[in-house]
Amino acid sequence: AATPLYLGIDFGTSGARYALIDEQGAIHSEGKRAYSAPPSARQVGGDAAGWATSWRAALFQLLADIPPVHRPSVSSVSIDGTSATTLIVDSASGELLAGPFLYNESFPDALPAVESIAPANHTVCSASSTLCKLVSWWHSSSSSAADVPVLMHQSDWLLWLLHGQYGVSDYNNALKVGYDPEVDAYPSWLTSQPYSRMLPSVRAPGAPIAALKDDVCSEYGLSNKCVVCTGTTDSIAAFLAARTGEPGRAVTSLGSTLAIKLVSEVRVDDARFGVYSHRLDDTWLVGGASNTGGAVLRRLFTDDQLAALSEHIDPAVPSPLDYYPLLKKGERFPISDPDMMPRLEPRPQSDAEYLHGILESIARVEAKGYNLLRELGATAVEEVFTAGGGARNDKWTAIRERVLGVPVRKAQQTEAAYGAALLALKGAKTLSS
Ligand code: ADP
Repeated sequence: AATPLYLGIDFGTSGARYALIDEQGAIHSEGKRAYSAPPSARQVGGDAAGWATSWRAALFQLLADIPPVHRPSVSSVSIDGTSATTLIVDSASGELLAGPFLYNESFPDALPAVESIAPANHTVCSASSTLCKLVSWWHSSSSSAADVPVLMHQSDWLLWLLHGQYGVSDYNNALKVGYDPEVDAYPSWLTSQPYSRMLPSVRAPGAPIAALKDDVCSEYGLSNKCVVCTGTTDSIAAFLAARTGEPGRAVTSLGSTLAIKLVSEVRVDDARFGVYSHRLDDTWLVGGASNTGGAVLRRLFTDDQLAALSEHIDPAVPSPLDYYPLLKKGERFPISDPDMMPRLEPRPQSDAEYLHGILESIARVEAKGYNLLRELGATAVEEVFTAGGGARNDKWTAIRERVLGVPVRKAQQTEAAYGAALLALKGAKTLSS
């Protein structure tokens, strides 16, 4: 028989990707599709439902993109989506009642009501949280008693298109609606609300839900033994891709901004710094995101210039230049100061020295980030894997190793689709054991 394969699909902010892996993690096929949302959907107050249509189209295009030879071997599938992207669906008809409300859409009208029921500084107390989206819809909806509305996260909805069962989610996606992953239940302040019957039941990410729907199997030549598994959020899926499960291991993402994620034995949350923890089986994934990062580099240098100038940097020599690279005013983590100004002066004559100073300054922000997580009670960092555009700069890696005082290396896999495929693999293993 052909080798069993595991399918992961990522629905990120700009497009959808798939990765098909085997049990050893080798990639057998991958691909991507852009969203073809009608332009009106991109505007505030535009045709939001257009997004759902284009996500569905991308999902089935990706299934059609999988080489036919591999399709019968797909044993399981999982999907990640953007966190706090929310849909309200009528579970009697399957029709979309409202949304999608996108991850970054804000519903300040619901904030007072949410703040009045949730503990102070809870993750749901942000105008873009899933709970604010739900409460805002609940207050404005005129749905009749005959409707049976259910709340779905983006990945729940896409998985539902594949398995057809209502009301299943995972504890990563459910965090921003108020689910407590530590006690593995919704808190009583939430279950006492009238809209709580709309909330999905919650499983671990990568838990088998049901077999793939018959019509999907027959249309795409997929096996009717293929199992659909719960998903996660896109940023957790990207973390999972690096396969760094042990406490003390971390992933720094050096893209337009700097984000760090650390596996910790202890759960740490601090709203002042935007620090919060996701559950990862028996450990916690603690994260923080700074506004510094590659966007500042991109404004100053092209990628070619960055590569060429970096050649002239000696990473063993500390740069005396002390900057705080930001695109605009304001920082959250590891310093919480909405009025912090960018600091990129004095600029030396030499561009290589300037770049060295900036890279070293960003490395110091990264080190301060890991130190802050430690101060807040997280496991100390022991090893850092790197994702994002900055990962390709070996000189920067060497600077960071010196500043952080721990080994730093490039993550082998960084695509969220790969992380989702690992969840599919986990689900298939659960079934076979
Ligand atoms: P995004 O967060 O936008 O997805 P990417 O992960 O694609 O970002 O990374 C792009 C960033 O990487 C840009 O801001 C760019 O300045 C930076 N970058 C590209 N090449 C290098 C390099 N050689 N050294 C450091 N940074 C780099």
